[in-house]
Amino acid sequence: MNKLKRKYFMIGSYIVTLPILSSVVMTSCVPSAIEENSNNAALLSNLWNSASAEKDATALTTFNLSKEVYKQMSNQSILEKDKVFWNKINQSLKIKKQSEGKSIPVVFMDLDETVLNNYAYQNWLAVSNKNYSSETWTKWVNSEEGTEVKSSINFIKDVWTNGGVVMFNSNRDMADHKESTKRNLVKLGLPIELMPDWIWWMKGVDLSTTKPWNNILEKSNIEYSSRKEERMNLVSTKNFIIDSVNDVSFKVVMKVGDDFDDFNDNATKKITNSEKIEILDKETGKLFGNLDSNVKGKYYNPKTKMWEDLDYSESYVLMGGNASYGNFLSNIKDFFSSQGAKRFEIIKDALKDFTWSGPK
Ligand SMILES: [Mg+2]
Repeated sequence: MNKLKRKYFMIGSYIVTLPILSSVVMTSCVPSAIEENSNNAALLSNLWNSASAEKDATALTTFNLSKEVYKQMSNQSILEKDKVFWNKINQSLKIKKQSEGKSIPVVFMDLDETVLNNYAYQNWLAVSNKNYSSETWTKWVNSEEGTEVKSSINFIKDVWTNGGVVMFNSNRDMADHKESTKRNLVKLGLPIELMPDWIWWMKGVDLSTTKPWNNILEKSNIEYSSRKEERMNLVSTKNFIIDSVNDVSFKVVMKVGDDFDDFNDNATKKITNSEKIEILDKETGKLFGNLDSNVKGKYYNPKTKMWEDLDYSESYVLMGGNASYGNFLSNIKDFFSSQGAKRFEIIKDALKDFTWSGPK
């Protein structure tokens, strides 16, 4: 049994033995770490994301269908699919300039819980009764032990093979996390040549420069945590010098993430879950799983506070399953700062409008 699998097995045993252990600690009326964890609903999500066949099958469904989505989106007349040359034998990548009025298709992917499964870290937090901290998160990222969200690497390679570019849009730090993330992905089978500097659009990229990926802001800069939507919008609206090729034009035609904020966070950051559902119903719902090139992409303009239609089509793919730490929890007051029994009460309160009143 490898190291990660052994960890999951231990968590499984932990849960199985809870009823017996809980009854013992209840007689003493002293809440133990085990009892607190028994109240932590997030642990079930952790287990599902770590050890279930359903998780892998969900990912396989998502990424197999994503190949079809890419095929449809990249067929738009404004795009050219013969400008990206990945030579697998020479392990090299070359980009050629697009024709006048055309662009190279881009798939923008979030990393955590979209490409990389970080549940070993989430499990460690849960069994140690710890809350997330940037210090332990950096140590986890630098351990390079993230596992693959099944078939994500296969999908990335499929895009590059078919004339597209995959860029990474993540709230991992450019300064502290990029190199270890790259090594982690290489260990999982993503060829190093598919990760040139210009595909990295993580926290810290300086969007005001001509090569944002090479210009990293100080963490104290207010622009350090730029919106993901702004990073993607810049890629679609500005031309770049890629290697020695001038004026390369890209269009982001596909966004893949595990969190609603991976798509239009200009509009969705820090709003409630019901407000997010309203945006889904009124604005962006048609884009999720979109295969129709007549359905145009959407940009939320933070200056005008208005939705704008793009002049080309986009498709969104959401990789499901992150019920442990997604942003759907961020607007539940005190959720992330609480633990154990208190957290369980907060979850129960958030569920009260969605709970059956019981048999009459
Ligand atoms: Mg994510």
